[in-house]
Amino acid sequence: MGTAIAYQLSKGDATVTIYEKDDAPAGASVRNFGLVWISGRRGGEELRLALHSRENWKDVAGNVPEISLRESGSLTLLSSQSELNVAEEAIESDPANQRDLHLLTTDEVYDKYQLRLAKGVIAALECGLDAMVDPRKAVGAVLQYLTDRPNVDVRLSTQVTSIIDRSITTARGDREEFDVIIVTTGAAGVELISPYALPDDIGVSTTTLVMTSSYHTEQVISPAIADGDSLRYYPFFQPFAAKHLGEQDHLPKSHGAQLLARQLGDGTLIMGDSHYYDDPTRFKIDIEIASYFRDRLDGLLEAEIPRIEKVWLGTYARATDPIRPYVAHPVADGVLYVTGAGGMGMTISWAIADEVVSWINARP
Ligand SMILES: Cc1cc2nc3c(=O)[nH]c(=O)nc-3n(C[C@H](O)[C@H](O)[C@H](O)COP(=O)(O)OP(=O)(O)OC[C@H]3O[C@@H](n4cnc5c(N)ncnc54)[C@H](O)[C@@H]3O)c2cc1C
Repeated sequence: MGTAIAYQLSKGDATVTIYEKDDAPAGASVRNFGLVWISGRRGGEELRLALHSRENWKDVAGNVPEISLRESGSLTLLSSQSELNVAEEAIESDPANQRDLHLLTTDEVYDKYQLRLAKGVIAALECGLDAMVDPRKAVGAVLQYLTDRPNVDVRLSTQVTSIIDRSITTARGDREEFDVIIVTTGAAGVELISPYALPDDIGVSTTTLVMTSSYHTEQVISPAIADGDSLRYYPFFQPFAAKHLGEQDHLPKSHGAQLLARQLGDGTLIMGDSHYYDDPTRFKIDIEIASYFRDRLDGLLEAEIPRIEKVWLGTYARATDPIRPYVAHPVADGVLYVTGAGGMGMTISWAIADEVVSWINARP
């Protein structure tokens, strides 16, 4: 989020300094799927931010092709009549079809994507607007681009230890003053703003996820793939899922899991994810849920799904008020705390960046 804000700010005549505590970004923005996920967004503010941000990603890709933006859509694979009912009612509920959703037969999926679906899959919900970037490279590539800009100073391996008034002190003891400070420390670093009283309803909490990636496969899977459980998770589908879907299977339910999968340019697959809410002590990964994602994908596609090679955890900060897509709170004069984009930070951060720039420009 901080990188996106810096990028948008640097287009004007501002002088921008980025502080990053690690040698290279390693937070939620690198540990995710890189999905720019329009399909499941709640109508209204959330969808507006997502569509706006998607346009910004395209603009960024023009300057930084290394982000590997792929506008190749997604397929949510439907394995029961109930899941199909959810998809049909969701499509009917949005006559303007703002998310570009379509139902495809299994033959249509093969004709369009050269993907054979397993026997149990009865149809697919296609979202033509879902897109992806390479999460391993995107933030680093944008930071590299900013490093080369004359009005941006990127300071890696520089931990901010305090923000008082409008000055920043780093772990090395350097202190510098700024006109405006935007604090985008993600799920970490809340202590930075702890000297300031936050209102009780600021509502930011954390979610930890298990993610996996596979060995390389020659099979090309161009769209992102989701399973029917994702309909329970994304707010646009949730009311219809609550009406039509029965109890979720025990294993995914006990881990708050759905299947999302996407292929990276090197042929490996990223598969996840499970959700553990407000559990900062969670550091152990259950093998059975890590293997579940690969097995679930294998059960939905007639394709070679390689073995899992890597497993990791990621944590994001989320706004606890479900209708608030993120939190932007002025903690002091000229100091704005921006966080809480939750599971949609890759999808909406570029729109948030524009809103933050407007906030800065509106200052007297
Ligand atoms: C596993 C996982 C999968 C996800 N998948 C998706 C997805 O596919 N699509 C989607 O839209 N969203 C996804 N999300 C959500 C998205 O990744 C996050 O919302 C987003 O990356 C949050 O960005 P951020 O900049 O707030 O936090 P971060 O990316 O964590 O960045 C915060 C940065 O601040 C730095 N920092 C912290 N404290 C200090 C300090 N004191 N001094 C200096 N630097 C500091 C950190 O080192 C870090 O680089 C996923 C999240 C996770 C965890």
